[in-house]
Amino acid sequence: MKKRVATVWLGGCSGCHMSLLDIDEGLLEIAPLMDLVKSPLVDGKEFPEGVDVAVVEGCVSTDHDRIQIFKIRERSKVLIALGDCAVTGNVTALRNLLGPAAMLDQAYQKAATNDNQGEMPSVEIPTLLPRASPLSHYVKVDVHVPGCPPSPDLIFAALKALLEGRPLVIPSGTLKNG
Ligand code: SF4
Repeated sequence: MKKRVATVWLGGCSGCHMSLLDIDEGLLEIAPLMDLVKSPLVDGKEFPEGVDVAVVEGCVSTDHDRIQIFKIRERSKVLIALGDCAVTGNVTALRNLLGPAAMLDQAYQKAATNDNQGEMPSVEIPTLLPRASPLSHYVKVDVHVPGCPPSPDLIFAALKALLEGRPLVIPSGTLKNG
Protein backbone atom coordinates (compact mmCIF):
# COMPACT_ATOMS: atom_id res chain seq x y z
CA MET A 1 0.00 0.00 0.00
CA LYS A 2 1.34 3.42 -0.93
CA LYS A 3 2.39 5.79 1.86
CA ARG A 4 0.98 9.34 1.90
CA VAL A 5 4.00 11.67 1.84
CA ALA A 6 4.09 15.44 2.34
CA THR A 7 7.05 17.79 2.06
CA VAL A 8 6.99 21.24 3.63
CA TRP A 9 9.30 24.23 3.49
CA LEU A 10 9.31 26.40 6.63
CA GLY A 11 12.21 28.73 7.59
CA GLY A 12 14.74 27.46 5.04
CA CYS A 13 16.26 28.42 1.71
CA SER A 14 14.79 25.58 -0.45
CA GLY A 15 18.24 24.02 -0.74
CA CYS A 16 17.05 20.89 1.06
CA HIS A 17 14.20 20.49 -1.44
CA MET A 18 16.71 20.97 -4.25
CA SER A 19 18.77 18.14 -2.74
CA LEU A 20 15.60 16.04 -2.58
CA LEU A 21 15.10 16.60 -6.30
CA ASP A 22 18.77 15.70 -6.84
CA ILE A 23 17.90 12.12 -5.95
CA ASP A 24 17.34 12.05 -9.73
CA GLU A 25 16.59 8.54 -11.02
CA GLY A 26 16.10 7.35 -7.44
CA LEU A 27 12.84 9.33 -7.51
CA LEU A 28 11.55 6.81 -10.06
CA GLU A 29 12.40 4.04 -7.60
CA ILE A 30 10.49 5.53 -4.67
CA ALA A 31 7.62 7.11 -6.65
CA PRO A 32 5.62 3.84 -6.89
CA LEU A 33 5.79 3.52 -3.08
CA MET A 34 4.09 6.82 -2.29
CA ASP A 35 1.44 9.41 -3.05
CA LEU A 36 2.76 12.97 -2.79
CA VAL A 37 -0.20 14.66 -1.11
CA LYS A 38 1.36 18.05 -0.28
CA SER A 39 4.56 19.76 -1.34
CA PRO A 40 5.93 23.04 -2.71
CA LEU A 41 6.38 20.94 -5.86
CA VAL A 42 2.64 20.29 -6.29
CA ASP A 43 -0.66 22.16 -5.85
CA GLY A 44 -2.62 22.35 -2.62
CA LYS A 45 -2.40 24.93 0.14
CA GLU A 46 -3.70 23.08 3.19
CA PHE A 47 -1.69 20.36 4.94
CA PRO A 48 -3.94 17.28 4.65
CA GLU A 49 -5.07 14.79 7.29
CA GLY A 50 -3.71 11.25 7.42
CA VAL A 51 -0.13 11.79 6.26
CA ASP A 52 2.23 8.83 6.77
CA VAL A 53 5.54 10.65 6.31
CA ALA A 54 6.04 14.43 6.61
CA VAL A 55 9.39 15.80 5.43
CA VAL A 56 10.02 19.28 6.83
CA GLU A 57 12.77 21.64 5.65
CA GLY A 58 13.69 24.73 7.65
CA CYS A 59 13.21 25.81 11.24
CA VAL A 60 10.31 27.51 13.01
CA SER A 61 10.90 31.21 12.43
CA THR A 62 7.48 32.88 12.13
CA ASP A 63 4.07 32.60 13.76
CA HIS A 64 2.89 30.93 10.54
CA ASP A 65 5.66 28.31 10.85
CA ARG A 66 4.61 27.62 14.42
CA ILE A 67 0.98 27.02 13.48
CA GLN A 68 2.12 24.83 10.60
CA ILE A 69 4.46 22.61 12.60
CA PHE A 70 1.79 21.82 15.21
CA LYS A 71 -0.67 20.95 12.43
CA ILE A 72 1.94 18.83 10.61
CA ARG A 73 2.76 16.91 13.79
CA GLU A 74 -0.90 16.32 14.61
CA ARG A 75 -1.66 15.01 11.11
CA SER A 76 1.49 12.91 10.44
CA LYS A 77 2.61 9.50 11.68
CA VAL A 78 6.32 10.12 11.04
CA LEU A 79 7.96 13.55 10.99
CA ILE A 80 11.39 13.97 9.36
CA ALA A 81 13.48 17.07 10.08
CA LEU A 82 15.24 17.56 6.74
CA GLY A 83 18.50 19.46 6.94
CA ASP A 84 20.41 21.42 9.53
CA CYS A 85 17.93 24.33 9.74
CA ALA A 86 15.20 21.89 10.77
CA VAL A 87 17.56 19.94 13.04
CA THR A 88 19.44 22.78 14.81
CA GLY A 89 18.23 26.15 13.46
CA ASN A 90 21.46 26.57 11.48
CA VAL A 91 21.57 29.50 9.02
CA THR A 92 18.04 30.72 9.72
CA ALA A 93 18.76 30.90 13.45
CA LEU A 94 21.70 33.26 12.90
CA ARG A 95 19.14 36.03 13.21
CA ASN A 96 18.85 35.11 16.90
CA LEU A 97 22.11 36.99 17.40
CA LEU A 98 20.36 40.26 16.47
CA GLY A 99 16.69 39.83 17.37
CA PRO A 100 13.78 40.40 14.96
CA ALA A 101 13.66 44.22 14.99
CA ALA A 102 17.38 44.72 14.38
CA MET A 103 17.38 41.99 11.74
CA LEU A 104 14.47 43.58 9.81
CA ASP A 105 16.15 46.97 10.10
CA GLN A 106 19.38 45.51 8.72
CA ALA A 107 17.65 43.62 5.90
CA TYR A 108 15.18 46.26 4.71
CA GLN A 109 16.65 49.62 5.70
CA LYS A 110 20.42 49.28 5.85
CA ALA A 111 21.13 46.61 3.25
CA ALA A 112 23.19 48.25 0.52
CA THR A 113 21.83 45.99 -2.23
CA ASN A 114 18.12 46.34 -1.43
CA ASP A 115 16.32 47.94 -4.41
CA ASN A 116 13.71 49.43 -2.08
CA GLN A 117 16.22 50.64 0.43
CA GLY A 118 14.57 52.32 3.35
CA GLU A 119 11.20 50.54 3.04
CA MET A 120 9.81 47.71 5.10
CA PRO A 121 7.78 45.09 3.15
CA SER A 122 4.43 46.63 2.17
CA VAL A 123 2.42 43.40 1.91
CA GLU A 124 1.35 41.24 4.82
CA ILE A 125 4.11 38.88 5.91
CA PRO A 126 4.13 36.45 8.84
CA THR A 127 5.35 37.92 12.12
CA LEU A 128 8.80 36.81 13.13
CA LEU A 129 9.00 34.93 16.41
CA PRO A 130 11.52 36.28 18.94
CA ARG A 131 13.80 33.34 18.09
CA ALA A 132 14.15 30.92 15.18
CA SER A 133 14.17 27.38 16.62
CA PRO A 134 14.63 23.81 15.43
CA LEU A 135 11.50 21.70 14.94
CA SER A 136 12.24 19.67 18.08
CA HIS A 137 11.79 22.82 20.19
CA TYR A 138 8.05 22.60 19.43
CA VAL A 139 7.20 19.01 18.49
CA LYS A 140 8.50 15.45 18.62
CA VAL A 141 10.72 14.69 15.64
CA ASP A 142 11.03 11.05 14.61
CA VAL A 143 13.97 11.22 12.19
CA HIS A 144 16.74 13.82 11.87
CA VAL A 145 18.44 14.01 8.47
CA PRO A 146 21.46 16.33 8.92
CA GLY A 147 23.39 18.33 6.35
CA CYS A 148 23.22 21.73 4.70
CA PRO A 149 21.76 20.45 2.55
CA PRO A 150 21.70 16.71 3.30
CA SER A 151 23.18 14.65 0.50
CA PRO A 152 20.67 13.23 -2.00
CA ASP A 153 21.95 9.74 -1.20
CA LEU A 154 21.14 10.17 2.48
CA ILE A 155 17.67 11.57 1.75
CA PHE A 156 17.04 8.69 -0.64
CA ALA A 157 18.18 6.09 1.91
CA ALA A 158 15.99 7.59 4.65
CA LEU A 159 12.90 7.89 2.48
CA LYS A 160 13.27 4.43 0.95
CA ALA A 161 13.69 2.77 4.34
CA LEU A 162 10.65 4.55 5.74
CA LEU A 163 8.51 3.80 2.70
CA GLU A 164 9.49 0.13 2.82
CA GLY A 165 8.94 -0.03 6.59
CA ARG A 166 12.45 -1.14 7.51
CA PRO A 167 15.22 0.38 9.67
CA LEU A 168 17.47 3.01 8.14
CA VAL A 169 21.02 1.90 7.44
CA ILE A 170 23.07 5.03 6.70
CA PRO A 171 25.16 4.47 3.56
CA SER A 172 28.85 5.27 4.08
CA GLY A 173 29.93 8.71 2.91
CA THR A 174 26.43 10.21 2.97
CA LEU A 175 26.79 12.15 6.24
CA LYS A 176 28.19 15.18 4.50
CA ASN A 177 26.66 18.18 2.83
CA GLY A 178 25.02 17.55 -0.54
S1 SF4 B 1 19.85 23.27 5.89
FE1 SF4 B 1 21.04 24.51 4.42
S2 SF4 B 1 20.16 23.98 2.42
FE2 SF4 B 1 18.67 23.32 3.98
S3 SF4 B 1 17.24 25.06 4.23
FE3 SF4 B 1 18.88 25.31 5.75
S4 SF4 B 1 20.41 26.64 4.74
FE4 SF4 B 1 19.09 25.82 3.13
